[in-house]
Amino acid sequence: RGLGRQGKGIQEARFVGVPGSPGAAVGRAVVMLPPADLEVVPDKTVDDIDAELKLFQNALEGVREDMRKLSAKLATQLRPEERALFDVYLMMLEDAALGGEVIEVIKTGQWAQGALRQVVGEHVNRFELMDDDYLRERASDVKDLGRRLLAYLQEARSQSLVYADNTILVSEELTPAMLGEVPEGKLAGLVSVLGSGNSHVAILARAMGIPTVMGLVDLPYSKVDGIEMIVDGYKGEVFTNPSEVLRKQYSDVVEEERQLAQGLDALRELPCVTPDGHRMPLWVNTGLLADVARAQQRGAEGVGLYRTEVPFMINQRFPSEKEQLAIYREQLAAFHPLPVTMRTLDIGGDKALSYFPIKEENPFLGWRGIRVTLDHPEIFLVQTRAMLKASEGLNNLRILLPMISGIHELEEALHLIHRAWGEVRDEGTDVPMPPVGVMVEIPAAVYQTRELARQVDFLSVGSNDLTQYLLAVDRNNPRVADLYDYLHPAVLQALNTVVRDAHGEGKPVSICGEMAGDPAAAILLMAMGFDSLSMNATNLPKVKWMLRQVNMSKAKELLVEALSHDNPQVIHSSLQLALKNLGLARMIGPGANKSL
Ligand code: PEP
Ligand code: MG
Repeated sequence: RGLGRQGKGIQEARFVGVPGSPGAAVGRAVVMLPPADLEVVPDKTVDDIDAELKLFQNALEGVREDMRKLSAKLATQLRPEERALFDVYLMMLEDAALGGEVIEVIKTGQWAQGALRQVVGEHVNRFELMDDDYLRERASDVKDLGRRLLAYLQEARSQSLVYADNTILVSEELTPAMLGEVPEGKLAGLVSVLGSGNSHVAILARAMGIPTVMGLVDLPYSKVDGIEMIVDGYKGEVFTNPSEVLRKQYSDVVEEERQLAQGLDALRELPCVTPDGHRMPLWVNTGLLADVARAQQRGAEGVGLYRTEVPFMINQRFPSEKEQLAIYREQLAAFHPLPVTMRTLDIGGDKALSYFPIKEENPFLGWRGIRVTLDHPEIFLVQTRAMLKASEGLNNLRILLPMISGIHELEEALHLIHRAWGEVRDEGTDVPMPPVGVMVEIPAAVYQTRELARQVDFLSVGSNDLTQYLLAVDRNNPRVADLYDYLHPAVLQALNTVVRDAHGEGKPVSICGEMAGDPAAAILLMAMGFDSLSMNATNLPKVKWMLRQVNMSKAKELLVEALSHDNPQVIHSSLQLALKNLGLARMIGPGANKSL
C-alpha cells in the first residue's frame, strides 16, 4: 500500500476510515503507544546505535534495581526458594541471556524498543510451545520482564519526544489522556485505528477542533512514525506520503478554514436570534480546562454539559473531595454568573478509569453512569458535596444525572443529593439547593418523560446514547458507523415526544448530544421547541450563523417535512436541498458537519 519498510515509502497511499472530527490537516505522524504494551511496539531503524544501546543498558539497570528492592521487601513474607524467582529474573537480564540477545538486535540498527519486542516475542513463543506446565508458565515471566524493561524505555523516550509543529498523533486506540500529552498548538490531527466518530475521544477532538479520522483499520500504524500525512476529517480519510499536488490542495483547505473561522468570530457578540425574532440560547459542552477559554471566546450562554469524568480520566486515582472542589470551582467561577450544568460521574461504556477497571461483555448495556454511582454512593456523595461546596457564593450550579432508566434511580439519586446538601450545610457551607435535571438518553426514559419531569427542574437529551440505544448501533463500532444516524425518523420522533411531554409538565428541555452542534440538525431541534442547544465550542459559531439566517416559521416547515419521511436518506437529502435553495449550503458543505 505504498508503505515500504519503516513506512518510508515514496508512494502516496490512501486509507479509509470514518470521520471523527471535521477539518483537514497536513503534518507529520507521531505514533503513540499505550504505556508498556510490548506487542504493539513498531519497528524503527535508528542511526545512533550507541544511544539506543545506552538507553537499553539504563533500562536493564533500572529493572535490576527494582528486582533487588522487590526481593528485599518481600524477604519476610516469602521463603528463600520462592524468592529465587527474582534471581531467575536477574539472570535473564544477563548478557548471556535475553539482555545479550536484545543488544545484538540493536546493533543491526533496530531501536531498543523494537529489539526488545522481537527478542521477548521469540522467547515467549518458545516457552508457550513447551509441554511442561512449569516451563510454559515461564512465558509470562518473560512477558513481565519485557513490560518492565519497556516501561523504562518509554519513560526515557517520552522525555525526549519532541513534537514538531503540525503533529499528527497516531495510535491503535486513542485515549482522552493521550490528547493531553501533546503541547498546545502543536497538535494538527488525530488518527485512531479503533473506535468511531461517536467514541468519546472523537467528541473531545471535536471540542478541541482537531481534524480526526477514526476506525482506520487498514492503516499499518506501527510503520508510519515520522512520515508525512494528510488527515481529512470530513471524509474520514488519511493519505500517507502525499504528492506535492495533494499537499498543496489540502494546505489550501486548511487556510480557507482558518479564514472561515475568523469570519465567524465576528458573531461572538451577536445574539442567536432568527430573522423572525426567535431567541435560541446556545450553550456549550465542556470537560477539558481548555474548553473554558474557547467557550468564552465564542460567546456561549452557559454550560449545558460539563463532563466531570474527563478530569477523572486524566487522573491516576480518584480525586479527593478537596481536589474535586478546586476543579469544579474553577468551572463555576469561569462562567459565573452564567449557569454551569455539571453531570455526575458517567463512567463505564467506553469511558474507563485506569484505577477503577470494569470488565464486561457488553459495557454499553452494563455498569454505566448512574448505575455505578448508585452502587457506590460514597463516590456520588463525595462528588455532589464537592459540587455544592464549590458553588458557595456563586450559586450557578445545576446538577445533571446520566443514564437514568427509571423513576427509582432518579429518586435514589435525588435522595443522595439532598443528603449531601444537608451535610454541607451542617458543615457551615451556605448554598441553596441547585436545580437538578435528568438526561434522557435511554429509550425507557423517552416513554417516562412526564413522570421524570415531575420530579426534576429540567431535562437534557443525550442524543449520542439515545441514537445508539434506539437504533441498536454501537457508537464505537466503525463497521456499523453508517447505520448510526441521528436524523433517523425514529430518533426524530423520540426527540419530538420528549419536548412535547417535558413542556406538558412545564419543564424546560435542552439537548447536549453532538446533534445539537450540527447546523442543519439544529434547525429541526429549534423547530421542535428545545429551550437550549448545548454543543462543543467549535461548532457553536456555525450553529449561530445558521440560525441567524433561518426563520422559525421556515424551520417549522422543514421539521414537518422531515417528520413526513420514513427514510433517513430522504430526510438528509431533502434538508440539504432546502438549505441549498435558501443559499445556506456554506455551513453544511465539507466541514460543517458529517450529517449531510
Ligand atoms: C450523550 O449521550 O448524548 C451525551 C451527551 O453524553 P456522552 O456523549 O458523554 O455519553
Ligand atoms: Mg451519554
